[in-house]
Amino acid sequence: MALNIRERLVAITKVWVEKGCITCGKSESICPEVFKVKREKWVKGATVIEGVDYSGLEEKIIKAAEACPVEVIKYE
Ligand code: SF4
Repeated sequence: MALNIRERLVAITKVWVEKGCITCGKSESICPEVFKVKREKWVKGATVIEGVDYSGLEEKIIKAAEACPVEVIKYE
């Protein structure tokens, strides 16, 4: 049986975005504390804001990862 989102809430120490982001903006709208989507001509795609304390943001990070249409948001 799959675990629900609360059962999966564990400390997140690392978040990253792999290649393939399509700049849809969902990650930033779900969790702007962690994700910044760049839309400049020369640099596009989601980035992870440096230096963020992920404690208390686990649920939003997991939601963003699950909402990503190309599944490039990873965390551990
Ligand atoms: S949800 Fe996924 S595809 Fe959309 S901006 Fe974020 S990382 Fe990129």
